[in-house]
Amino acid sequence: MHSTPSTGGDKDPSGSGSPHCTRTLIHPGKETLLWYDPWLINGPIAQSGLLIADALGRHAFERVEHILLDGQRWVNRTHDPALDDRWEEIQATKIHSRIQEDLVVWAPTSSGKFSLKSAWDVVRGGCERKEWYNLVWFPHSQPRFSFVCWVALWGRLPTRSLLARWGTVIDPTCYLCGNAVETTDHLLFECDFSSAVWREVLSLNGFNRNPLGTWKDVVEWLVSHFNGGSLLGSVRKFSFISSVYRLWQERNARAHLKRPTINCDGSVKGGFGGYGAIGRNYRGEPVFALAGGIQESDVVCMELHAIRSGLQRARVFNLSQVQVRSDSQVAIQMVVGTYKVPCGVLWLVEEICELRDSFRSCTFIHHVREINCCADYLAGYTSVAQIIHFDLHNLPLILSEMIQNDAKGKVYSRM
Ligand SMILES: [Zn+2]
Repeated sequence: MHSTPSTGGDKDPSGSGSPHCTRTLIHPGKETLLWYDPWLINGPIAQSGLLIADALGRHAFERVEHILLDGQRWVNRTHDPALDDRWEEIQATKIHSRIQEDLVVWAPTSSGKFSLKSAWDVVRGGCERKEWYNLVWFPHSQPRFSFVCWVALWGRLPTRSLLARWGTVIDPTCYLCGNAVETTDHLLFECDFSSAVWREVLSLNGFNRNPLGTWKDVVEWLVSHFNGGSLLGSVRKFSFISSVYRLWQERNARAHLKRPTINCDGSVKGGFGGYGAIGRNYRGEPVFALAGGIQESDVVCMELHAIRSGLQRARVFNLSQVQVRSDSQVAIQMVVGTYKVPCGVLWLVEEICELRDSFRSCTFIHHVREINCCADYLAGYTSVAQIIHFDLHNLPLILSEMIQNDAKGKVYSRM
Protein backbone atom coordinates (compact mmCIF):
# COMPACT_ATOMS: atom_id res chain seq x y z
CA MET A 1 0.00 0.00 0.00
CA HIS A 2 2.82 2.43 0.82
CA SER A 3 5.94 2.59 -1.24
CA THR A 4 7.44 5.53 0.59
CA PRO A 5 7.57 6.46 4.23
CA SER A 6 4.57 8.57 5.25
CA THR A 7 3.23 10.26 8.31
CA GLY A 8 0.43 9.01 10.53
CA GLY A 9 -1.46 9.30 13.83
CA ASP A 10 -0.88 12.06 16.41
CA LYS A 11 2.43 13.85 16.74
CA ASP A 12 5.51 13.03 14.78
CA PRO A 13 7.93 11.24 17.17
CA SER A 14 10.82 12.30 14.98
CA GLY A 15 10.38 15.68 16.54
CA SER A 16 9.78 17.47 13.26
CA GLY A 17 6.59 18.87 14.75
CA SER A 18 4.43 18.01 11.74
CA PRO A 19 1.14 16.34 12.60
CA HIS A 20 0.32 12.81 11.47
CA CYS A 21 -2.91 12.77 9.58
CA THR A 22 -3.20 9.14 8.53
CA ARG A 23 -2.85 5.80 10.26
CA THR A 24 -2.66 2.31 8.84
CA LEU A 25 -4.87 -0.42 10.25
CA ILE A 26 -3.08 -3.76 10.05
CA HIS A 27 -4.45 -6.97 8.71
CA PRO A 28 -1.84 -9.04 6.90
CA GLY A 29 0.78 -6.31 7.27
CA LYS A 30 2.03 -7.14 3.81
CA GLU A 31 1.97 -3.62 2.42
CA THR A 32 2.83 -1.57 5.46
CA LEU A 33 6.43 -0.54 6.09
CA LEU A 34 7.45 -1.71 9.54
CA TRP A 35 9.69 1.24 10.38
CA TYR A 36 8.35 4.17 8.43
CA ASP A 37 4.62 3.79 8.03
CA PRO A 38 2.23 5.21 10.60
CA TRP A 39 0.64 2.03 11.83
CA LEU A 40 1.27 2.67 15.54
CA ILE A 41 -0.83 5.18 17.43
CA ASN A 42 2.18 7.34 18.27
CA GLY A 43 3.53 7.40 14.74
CA PRO A 44 6.29 5.57 12.85
CA ILE A 45 8.94 3.61 14.72
CA ALA A 46 11.80 5.16 12.75
CA GLN A 47 13.22 8.05 14.74
CA SER A 48 15.12 10.97 13.34
CA GLY A 49 18.24 9.54 14.97
CA LEU A 50 18.13 6.41 12.81
CA LEU A 51 20.86 6.76 10.22
CA ILE A 52 19.57 6.58 6.69
CA ALA A 53 22.35 4.18 5.61
CA ASP A 54 21.52 2.00 8.54
CA ALA A 55 17.87 2.14 7.68
CA LEU A 56 18.47 1.33 4.02
CA GLY A 57 20.74 -1.57 4.92
CA ARG A 58 18.51 -3.21 7.45
CA HIS A 59 15.03 -1.90 7.60
CA ALA A 60 13.91 0.28 4.79
CA PHE A 61 11.58 -2.15 3.05
CA GLU A 62 10.77 -4.49 5.92
CA ARG A 63 7.01 -4.96 6.24
CA VAL A 64 4.92 -5.26 9.35
CA GLU A 65 4.13 -8.89 8.49
CA HIS A 66 7.75 -9.59 9.45
CA ILE A 67 6.83 -9.30 13.13
CA LEU A 68 3.51 -11.14 12.85
CA LEU A 69 3.25 -14.82 13.64
CA ASP A 70 0.51 -16.57 11.65
CA GLY A 71 -1.12 -13.19 11.17
CA GLN A 72 -2.35 -13.49 14.77
CA ARG A 73 0.35 -12.53 17.27
CA TRP A 74 3.24 -10.07 17.51
CA VAL A 75 6.75 -11.44 17.63
CA ASN A 76 10.03 -9.53 17.66
CA ARG A 77 12.03 -11.31 15.04
CA THR A 78 14.36 -8.39 14.36
CA HIS A 79 15.69 -8.07 17.94
CA ASP A 80 16.18 -4.40 17.15
CA PRO A 81 16.20 -2.26 20.34
CA ALA A 82 14.13 0.39 18.48
CA LEU A 83 11.37 -2.17 18.22
CA ASP A 84 11.76 -3.07 21.90
CA ASP A 85 11.21 0.57 22.80
CA ARG A 86 7.77 0.46 21.19
CA TRP A 87 6.92 -3.11 22.09
CA GLU A 88 4.09 -2.31 24.48
CA GLU A 89 2.49 -0.11 21.89
CA ILE A 90 2.94 -2.82 19.26
CA GLN A 91 1.32 -5.42 21.45
CA ALA A 92 -1.61 -3.12 22.07
CA THR A 93 -2.11 -2.64 18.33
CA LYS A 94 -5.12 -4.45 16.98
CA ILE A 95 -4.70 -6.93 14.15
CA HIS A 96 -7.83 -6.54 12.08
CA SER A 97 -9.09 -9.86 10.93
CA ARG A 98 -12.07 -8.93 8.80
CA ILE A 99 -10.36 -6.71 6.30
CA GLN A 100 -8.29 -8.18 3.52
CA GLU A 101 -5.77 -5.41 3.08
CA ASP A 102 -4.05 -2.96 5.35
CA LEU A 103 -6.26 0.10 5.46
CA VAL A 104 -5.20 3.73 5.66
CA VAL A 105 -7.57 5.84 7.77
CA TRP A 106 -7.78 9.52 8.79
CA ALA A 107 -6.07 9.67 12.16
CA PRO A 108 -7.50 12.87 13.73
CA THR A 109 -11.03 11.44 14.02
CA SER A 110 -11.97 8.40 16.09
CA SER A 111 -14.06 7.06 13.19
CA GLY A 112 -11.11 7.30 10.81
CA LYS A 113 -13.22 9.35 8.43
CA PHE A 114 -11.99 12.64 7.06
CA SER A 115 -13.77 15.83 8.10
CA LEU A 116 -12.99 19.45 7.34
CA LYS A 117 -13.31 20.35 11.00
CA SER A 118 -10.68 17.82 12.08
CA ALA A 119 -8.40 18.98 9.24
CA TRP A 120 -8.82 22.57 10.44
CA ASP A 121 -7.92 21.49 13.98
CA VAL A 122 -4.77 19.84 12.64
CA VAL A 123 -3.83 22.93 10.64
CA ARG A 124 -4.29 25.29 13.57
CA GLY A 125 -2.01 23.02 15.57
CA GLY A 126 -4.58 22.06 18.17
CA CYS A 127 -4.04 25.25 20.13
CA GLU A 128 -6.50 25.58 22.98
CA ARG A 129 -9.71 27.46 22.52
CA LYS A 130 -9.77 30.84 24.13
CA GLU A 131 -12.17 31.29 27.02
CA TRP A 132 -14.04 33.87 24.94
CA TYR A 133 -14.54 31.51 21.99
CA ASN A 134 -18.26 30.96 22.66
CA LEU A 135 -18.81 34.66 23.24
CA VAL A 136 -17.76 35.35 19.65
CA TRP A 137 -18.70 32.25 17.70
CA PHE A 138 -22.20 30.94 18.29
CA PRO A 139 -25.19 29.82 16.21
CA HIS A 140 -27.11 32.70 14.61
CA SER A 141 -24.24 35.15 15.07
CA GLN A 142 -23.51 37.57 12.26
CA PRO A 143 -20.20 36.39 10.69
CA ARG A 144 -18.84 39.86 10.00
CA PHE A 145 -19.56 40.93 13.60
CA SER A 146 -17.91 37.77 14.94
CA PHE A 147 -14.91 38.23 12.69
CA VAL A 148 -14.19 41.83 13.75
CA CYS A 149 -14.69 40.81 17.36
CA TRP A 150 -12.36 37.85 16.95
CA VAL A 151 -9.64 40.06 15.42
CA ALA A 152 -10.16 42.59 18.24
CA LEU A 153 -9.83 39.96 20.95
CA TRP A 154 -6.56 38.81 19.42
CA GLY A 155 -5.42 42.45 19.58
CA ARG A 156 -4.98 42.63 15.81
CA LEU A 157 -7.31 45.46 14.82
CA PRO A 158 -5.26 48.01 12.87
CA THR A 159 -5.63 50.74 15.47
CA ARG A 160 -3.55 53.89 15.20
CA SER A 161 -1.12 52.75 17.89
CA LEU A 162 -0.50 49.55 15.91
CA LEU A 163 -0.18 51.50 12.66
CA ALA A 164 2.19 53.94 14.39
CA ARG A 165 4.36 50.99 15.43
CA TRP A 166 4.42 49.86 11.81
CA GLY A 167 5.34 53.42 10.83
CA THR A 168 2.26 53.97 8.64
CA VAL A 169 0.77 56.76 10.75
CA ILE A 170 2.38 59.41 12.91
CA ASP A 171 -0.50 60.53 15.07
CA PRO A 172 -1.79 57.65 17.27
CA THR A 173 -4.65 59.67 18.83
CA CYS A 174 -8.05 58.02 19.26
CA TYR A 175 -10.52 58.98 16.54
CA LEU A 176 -13.46 58.70 18.93
CA CYS A 177 -12.38 61.02 21.74
CA GLY A 178 -9.18 62.65 20.53
CA ASN A 179 -7.79 62.42 24.07
CA ALA A 180 -5.74 59.23 24.25
CA VAL A 181 -3.62 56.81 22.27
CA GLU A 182 -5.84 54.61 20.14
CA THR A 183 -5.11 51.08 21.33
CA THR A 184 -7.66 48.27 21.02
CA ASP A 185 -8.34 48.42 24.76
CA HIS A 186 -8.83 52.15 24.69
CA LEU A 187 -10.89 52.29 21.51
CA LEU A 188 -13.30 49.50 22.39
CA PHE A 189 -13.72 50.11 26.06
CA GLU A 190 -11.74 52.73 27.92
CA CYS A 191 -12.65 55.58 25.59
CA ASP A 192 -15.39 57.86 26.95
CA PHE A 193 -17.37 57.24 23.80
CA SER A 194 -17.24 53.44 23.96
CA SER A 195 -17.69 53.19 27.73
CA ALA A 196 -20.92 55.17 27.34
CA VAL A 197 -21.98 52.66 24.68
CA TRP A 198 -21.17 49.72 27.00
CA ARG A 199 -23.08 51.24 29.88
CA GLU A 200 -26.11 51.40 27.63
CA VAL A 201 -25.59 47.88 26.26
CA LEU A 202 -25.22 46.43 29.77
CA SER A 203 -28.29 48.26 30.93
CA LEU A 204 -30.34 46.96 27.98
CA ASN A 205 -29.17 43.48 28.93
CA GLY A 206 -30.44 43.94 32.46
CA PHE A 207 -27.10 44.69 34.14
CA ASN A 208 -26.96 48.04 35.86
CA ARG A 209 -23.27 48.17 36.47
CA ASN A 210 -20.57 50.49 35.29
CA PRO A 211 -18.22 48.65 32.98
CA LEU A 212 -15.25 49.37 35.23
CA GLY A 213 -11.88 47.71 34.92
CA THR A 214 -9.75 46.90 31.95
CA TRP A 215 -11.00 45.51 28.66
CA LYS A 216 -9.61 42.12 29.74
CA ASP A 217 -11.65 42.29 32.98
CA VAL A 218 -14.76 43.14 31.03
CA VAL A 219 -14.27 40.26 28.60
CA GLU A 220 -13.83 37.89 31.56
CA TRP A 221 -17.03 39.24 33.08
CA LEU A 222 -18.87 38.90 29.76
CA VAL A 223 -17.68 35.30 29.34
CA SER A 224 -19.31 34.38 32.64
CA HIS A 225 -22.47 36.50 32.24
CA PHE A 226 -23.21 36.45 28.50
CA ASN A 227 -23.11 32.71 28.15
CA GLY A 228 -25.28 29.74 27.32
CA GLY A 229 -27.09 28.70 24.21
CA SER A 230 -30.53 29.98 25.26
CA LEU A 231 -32.27 32.73 23.33
CA LEU A 232 -31.34 35.21 26.06
CA GLY A 233 -27.71 34.06 26.01
CA SER A 234 -27.58 34.44 22.23
CA VAL A 235 -29.16 37.90 22.33
CA ARG A 236 -26.63 39.02 24.93
CA LYS A 237 -23.72 37.66 22.94
CA PHE A 238 -25.11 39.27 19.82
CA SER A 239 -25.29 42.61 21.62
CA PHE A 240 -21.61 42.24 22.49
CA ILE A 241 -20.30 41.35 19.03
CA SER A 242 -22.52 43.90 17.29
CA SER A 243 -21.37 46.66 19.67
CA VAL A 244 -17.72 45.87 19.01
CA TYR A 245 -18.44 45.88 15.28
CA ARG A 246 -20.32 49.18 15.40
CA LEU A 247 -17.63 50.85 17.50
CA TRP A 248 -15.03 49.79 14.97
CA GLN A 249 -17.27 50.95 12.13
CA GLU A 250 -17.77 54.32 13.84
CA ARG A 251 -14.04 54.69 14.27
CA ASN A 252 -13.46 53.88 10.59
CA ALA A 253 -16.13 56.31 9.48
CA ARG A 254 -14.31 59.07 11.33
CA ALA A 255 -10.92 57.89 10.16
CA HIS A 256 -11.81 57.91 6.50
CA LEU A 257 -12.24 61.63 6.27
CA LYS A 258 -15.85 61.64 7.28
CA ARG A 259 -14.93 64.33 9.74
CA PRO A 260 -16.97 67.36 10.68
CA THR A 261 -17.25 69.87 7.89
CA ILE A 262 -17.83 73.60 7.83
CA ASN A 263 -19.34 74.95 4.63
CA CYS A 264 -18.81 78.69 4.25
CA ASP A 265 -19.96 81.28 1.77
CA GLY A 266 -20.01 85.03 1.33
CA SER A 267 -22.06 87.30 -0.90
CA VAL A 268 -22.47 90.95 -1.78
CA LYS A 269 -25.71 92.54 -2.89
CA GLY A 270 -26.12 96.25 -3.49
CA GLY A 271 -22.99 97.11 -1.51
CA PHE A 272 -24.07 95.05 1.48
CA GLY A 273 -22.17 91.93 2.47
CA GLY A 274 -23.59 88.67 3.78
CA TYR A 275 -21.85 85.55 5.10
CA GLY A 276 -22.98 82.16 6.24
CA ALA A 277 -21.49 78.99 7.68
CA ILE A 278 -22.91 75.63 8.61
CA GLY A 279 -21.08 72.99 10.64
CA ARG A 280 -22.04 69.34 10.23
CA ASN A 281 -20.86 66.15 11.84
CA TYR A 282 -19.49 63.31 9.74
CA ARG A 283 -23.03 61.96 9.27
CA GLY A 284 -24.07 65.24 7.69
CA GLU A 285 -26.20 66.32 10.67
CA PRO A 286 -25.99 70.04 11.46
CA VAL A 287 -24.01 71.08 14.54
CA PHE A 288 -24.45 74.81 14.02
CA ALA A 289 -25.67 77.26 11.40
CA LEU A 290 -25.07 80.99 11.30
CA ALA A 291 -25.80 83.92 9.01
CA GLY A 292 -24.40 87.43 9.25
CA GLY A 293 -24.38 90.74 7.46
CA ILE A 294 -22.06 93.78 7.45
CA GLN A 295 -21.54 96.90 5.38
CA GLU A 296 -18.96 95.58 2.94
CA SER A 297 -18.75 95.37 -0.84
CA ASP A 298 -15.74 93.08 -1.32
CA VAL A 299 -16.90 89.52 -1.92
CA VAL A 300 -13.58 87.88 -1.02
CA CYS A 301 -13.68 89.76 2.28
CA MET A 302 -17.14 88.24 2.87
CA GLU A 303 -15.86 84.75 2.01
CA LEU A 304 -13.13 85.22 4.63
CA HIS A 305 -15.67 86.47 7.17
CA ALA A 306 -17.66 83.31 6.56
CA ILE A 307 -14.61 81.09 7.18
CA ARG A 308 -13.61 83.01 10.29
CA SER A 309 -17.06 82.89 11.86
CA GLY A 310 -17.45 79.18 10.94
CA LEU A 311 -14.18 78.31 12.67
CA GLN A 312 -15.08 80.42 15.73
CA ARG A 313 -18.36 78.57 16.02
CA ALA A 314 -16.66 75.18 15.59
CA ARG A 315 -14.45 76.07 18.56
CA VAL A 316 -17.55 76.78 20.65
CA PHE A 317 -18.88 73.31 19.76
CA ASN A 318 -15.53 71.63 20.55
CA LEU A 319 -15.04 70.20 17.09
CA SER A 320 -11.40 69.16 17.10
CA GLN A 321 -10.94 68.02 13.51
CA VAL A 322 -12.67 69.97 10.78
CA GLN A 323 -12.65 70.38 7.06
CA VAL A 324 -13.50 73.89 5.88
CA ARG A 325 -15.21 74.06 2.52
CA SER A 326 -15.54 77.29 0.58
CA ASP A 327 -16.57 77.90 -3.00
CA SER A 328 -14.06 80.76 -3.19
CA GLN A 329 -10.80 79.48 -4.62
CA VAL A 330 -9.13 82.80 -3.86
CA ALA A 331 -10.13 82.80 -0.20
CA ILE A 332 -8.81 79.26 0.21
CA GLN A 333 -5.55 80.14 -1.54
CA MET A 334 -5.09 83.17 0.74
CA VAL A 335 -5.52 81.01 3.83
CA VAL A 336 -3.16 78.26 2.66
CA GLY A 337 -0.59 80.83 1.55
CA THR A 338 -0.65 80.36 -2.21
CA TYR A 339 -2.22 83.75 -3.00
CA LYS A 340 -0.88 87.14 -1.96
CA VAL A 341 -3.15 88.56 0.69
CA PRO A 342 -4.27 92.19 0.07
CA CYS A 343 -3.70 94.57 3.02
CA GLY A 344 -7.45 95.13 3.50
CA VAL A 345 -8.12 91.50 4.49
CA LEU A 346 -4.78 90.66 6.06
CA TRP A 347 -6.22 90.83 9.57
CA LEU A 348 -8.97 88.36 8.60
CA VAL A 349 -6.51 85.85 7.12
CA GLU A 350 -4.29 86.17 10.20
CA GLU A 351 -7.24 85.47 12.50
CA ILE A 352 -8.25 82.47 10.40
CA CYS A 353 -4.70 81.06 10.57
CA GLU A 354 -4.66 81.55 14.34
CA LEU A 355 -7.97 79.73 14.63
CA ARG A 356 -6.74 76.98 12.30
CA ASP A 357 -3.78 76.31 14.56
CA SER A 358 -6.05 75.84 17.56
CA PHE A 359 -7.65 72.75 15.97
CA ARG A 360 -6.11 69.33 16.12
CA SER A 361 -6.70 69.08 12.43
CA CYS A 362 -8.11 71.77 10.16
CA THR A 363 -8.00 71.53 6.39
CA PHE A 364 -9.36 73.85 3.72
CA ILE A 365 -10.77 72.71 0.43
CA HIS A 366 -12.44 74.39 -2.48
CA HIS A 367 -16.00 73.28 -2.92
CA VAL A 368 -17.97 74.08 -6.05
CA ARG A 369 -21.04 76.21 -5.55
CA GLU A 370 -23.38 73.42 -6.63
CA ILE A 371 -22.62 71.49 -3.47
CA ASN A 372 -22.37 74.50 -1.20
CA CYS A 373 -26.01 75.53 -1.34
CA CYS A 374 -26.67 75.59 2.43
CA ALA A 375 -23.88 78.11 2.99
CA ASP A 376 -24.98 79.99 -0.13
CA TYR A 377 -28.48 80.28 1.33
CA LEU A 378 -27.14 81.46 4.70
CA ALA A 379 -24.88 84.06 3.04
CA GLY A 380 -27.94 85.74 1.55
CA TYR A 381 -30.15 85.30 4.59
CA THR A 382 -29.92 88.71 6.19
CA SER A 383 -29.79 92.17 4.71
CA VAL A 384 -29.07 94.03 7.94
CA ALA A 385 -25.90 94.20 10.02
CA GLN A 386 -26.33 91.40 12.52
CA ILE A 387 -25.32 87.82 13.24
CA ILE A 388 -27.88 85.04 13.65
CA HIS A 389 -27.16 81.69 15.30
CA PHE A 390 -29.91 79.34 14.24
CA ASP A 391 -31.80 77.06 16.55
CA LEU A 392 -31.20 73.65 14.97
CA HIS A 393 -34.65 72.45 16.01
CA ASN A 394 -36.25 75.35 14.27
CA LEU A 395 -34.36 75.82 11.02
CA PRO A 396 -35.97 77.47 7.99
CA LEU A 397 -37.74 74.73 6.06
CA ILE A 398 -35.77 75.31 2.88
CA LEU A 399 -32.49 74.98 4.79
CA SER A 400 -33.63 71.72 6.44
CA GLU A 401 -34.45 70.32 3.02
CA MET A 402 -31.05 71.34 1.67
CA ILE A 403 -29.32 69.70 4.63
CA GLN A 404 -31.22 66.48 4.05
CA ASN A 405 -30.42 66.55 0.34
CA ASP A 406 -26.73 67.19 1.08
CA ALA A 407 -26.68 64.20 3.41
CA LYS A 408 -28.04 62.11 0.53
CA GLY A 409 -25.38 63.49 -1.80
CA LYS A 410 -27.69 65.54 -4.04
CA VAL A 411 -25.90 67.93 -6.43
CA TYR A 412 -27.71 71.09 -7.51
CA SER A 413 -27.38 72.32 -11.05
CA ARG A 414 -25.91 75.79 -11.58
CA MET A 415 -28.54 78.47 -11.98
ZN1 LIG B 1 -10.90 57.55 22.80
